[in-house]
Amino acid sequence: MIAQTVFAVEPWCLRENELDQDLLAQTESVFALSNGHLGWRANLDEGEPHGLPGSYLNGVYELRPMPYAEAAYGQPESGQTLVNITNGKLIRLFVDDEPFDVRYGELRSHERMLDFRAGVLHRRAEWVSPAGAAVRVRSTRLVSFTQRAVAAICYEVEPLDAQVHIAIQSELLANEQLPSADGDPRVAAVLDRPLTLEHQEADGAAAVLVHRTNRSGLRVGAAMDHLVEGPDGIATESRVLADAGLFTVAVSLKPGQRLRLIKFVAHGWSGERSLTAVRDQVLAALSAARQTRWEGLLAEQRAFLDDFWDRADVQVDGDTEVQQAVRFGLFHVLQAGARGENRPIPAKGLTGTGYDGHAFWDTETFVLPLLTMTAPDAAASALRWRHSTLPLATERARQLGYSGAAFPWRTITGDECSGYWPAGTAAFHVSADVADAVVRYVDATADETFEAGPGMELLVQTARFWRSLGHHDPLGQFHIDGVTGPDEYSAIADDNVFTNLMARQNLVAAADVVNRYPDRARDLGIDAEEAASWRDAAEAMYIPFDETLGVHSQSERFTKHQVWDFAGTASARYPLLMHFPYFDLYRKQVIKQADLVLAMYLRGAAFSAEQKARNFDYYEPLTVRDSSLSACTQAVMAAEVGHLSLAYDYLGEAALMDLRDLENDTRDGIHIASLAGAWIALVGGFGGMRTHRGDISFTPRLPEGLTLLAFTVMIRGRRLRIEVTHESAKYVLAEGEPLQIMHHGEPLMVTVGDVAERPVPPAPARTRPRQPPGRAPARRRPQETS
Ligand code: BGC
Repeated sequence: MIAQTVFAVEPWCLRENELDQDLLAQTESVFALSNGHLGWRANLDEGEPHGLPGSYLNGVYELRPMPYAEAAYGQPESGQTLVNITNGKLIRLFVDDEPFDVRYGELRSHERMLDFRAGVLHRRAEWVSPAGAAVRVRSTRLVSFTQRAVAAICYEVEPLDAQVHIAIQSELLANEQLPSADGDPRVAAVLDRPLTLEHQEADGAAAVLVHRTNRSGLRVGAAMDHLVEGPDGIATESRVLADAGLFTVAVSLKPGQRLRLIKFVAHGWSGERSLTAVRDQVLAALSAARQTRWEGLLAEQRAFLDDFWDRADVQVDGDTEVQQAVRFGLFHVLQAGARGENRPIPAKGLTGTGYDGHAFWDTETFVLPLLTMTAPDAAASALRWRHSTLPLATERARQLGYSGAAFPWRTITGDECSGYWPAGTAAFHVSADVADAVVRYVDATADETFEAGPGMELLVQTARFWRSLGHHDPLGQFHIDGVTGPDEYSAIADDNVFTNLMARQNLVAAADVVNRYPDRARDLGIDAEEAASWRDAAEAMYIPFDETLGVHSQSERFTKHQVWDFAGTASARYPLLMHFPYFDLYRKQVIKQADLVLAMYLRGAAFSAEQKARNFDYYEPLTVRDSSLSACTQAVMAAEVGHLSLAYDYLGEAALMDLRDLENDTRDGIHIASLAGAWIALVGGFGGMRTHRGDISFTPRLPEGLTLLAFTVMIRGRRLRIEVTHESAKYVLAEGEPLQIMHHGEPLMVTVGDVAERPVPPAPARTRPRQPPGRAPARRRPQETS
């Protein structure tokens, strides 16, 4: 956990006022910089001490063995792990011969600040060396949103009391020694020194290194160049050492004098291009950065973010912590997806190696809803990545004996990397989640080029998969048996409601798109009969309902299972998967994360209001939230059915997941889906926003602690701003053609220049449901607005 006092509460930045060395790994994650292509963990400039050194390029991975104790057909043979590439962040400082190291001497002050509007990480430290020389160090770093291969650092040092001799050593370093995180020595061996040197060269203040990953055969290049400003007498030197390029600057500084080093770094990779091509690629990126200059890079970064915040900002009055957390979350989601350009958005973004750097359904179900409504190009790019993996997904479906496309549970390249069937491949819903993201994107943007191209292929191949995976029973009902829904504590179940409803939408959407683009459909080999079979399956989709209890059964027979002994489970035994055998979790009523409740959010029209309220109350006491993906969904549905204060508590949990390290694993990287979930909880929960087939509706209602919620969404080329208070909701169209929306079921036309304002009806009075003992979310107390 991270104590509440570690970060100052400010609306537009995250500030740490002193360095806690025990929290280094966590703060390296929360202060990490990325643009979706390149990621730099917030390691200290001097490299040590560290929690986990990390620099990543999206798509650069190493293959790792996946040994099985018992062989079985269809098991993936090889895993993939995100690789720590060449470290370009290193700037080591020597003060009168002593290395600047916060573990020695006296660290008088140390501050780090991540600025959400400027897109930079500032650091400022005052340090006295063991020999008594006092210096002030300032650094600012950025990973550029506008020049995706580029990162840069401005590093300044000045003496505080007396003249000092300073040497700064700026470095590119490959194959850094990493703390071993993996218990399996076979895997650790593969990841130890994953890069083989192919080329290294230094020239003046510049150096370039090209390496190749040993098994996956990817070529990675890194280059650096420097500008130095300071008093006369500066000496510089450059050299290459094994796996490293070094540029050293030495000078004597009197009090009042300052040495300033601007470091430009470029990273690039390719699975295809030659050594010289990769080398030239990073050198070209470096030239462009140098030409833009440090000030230019800062200005571009600010302009990029101004544009983003214009479209995406969420204002929350009444809770300064949530205000900060939601902007922190938006910033990190943007960082994860902004410039991925047809690459995946991993569960941890590029902030750490948690989950091996894999992407999951987290992207389509939690991250893309946010990006679709605020940065649609980034959403399209993530979907194009899925599309690029279609050949692997169709191959996987064929291997498993089915038609169409079975998308992997976890992956970097598109190959299935899950070695555990029940909570991996059997979670086939990921294919319907991809289809859902396509439908949502096309609905929100009306991007017909995407729809008729990659969108249609994704819909059609996933529909084919569902049609072949499911079957009609003798009465004609369509079943999808033996699958795992979002709740990984109930595996290989029949007719999971979430999966069936998502598959139903997938089948209908595919049949519709075939109707809209008949020529394309012919090209894809789809005839009228096949499309009709999708509609038949959708119409006949079986949805289990327990008539005795009057609630939907998460999957067939789920509500008949024995209820988990929650009272007899001590809090120290959570997460349950670490303390109980899966087989026992599978056969009891205990839910890892929102499943049926997620179905009620994403496929809301399939449930009546009364069913939603009853279902919510039934599933709350069974849901333990052993996944960070749960709280935001519970927030949305709690708000919809009228448990506003509970929704507020869940919002707090989703939003503060990493700022408080609630799951004790922020060191491995931040939880991108949970951070996107804070937006979902606010916009989908208290804003009550739902989109369906081009329609957009709102049922806004605030919990007691908040006084105002304001957010902006992009819908079909329009920019719509919504402001909610306890009394009323205002809808303002900032740009675009008039738009019809729904406010609490009432149709409303909004036009540019007009403010449409409607009262907010009171929430129904409901008794707060209970959670399993010890698993209730922390209560959020209303706070003063700053
Ligand atoms: C959750 C999955 C999720 C994965 C990555 C697991 O704990 O149960 O639903 O996709 O984490 O975030």
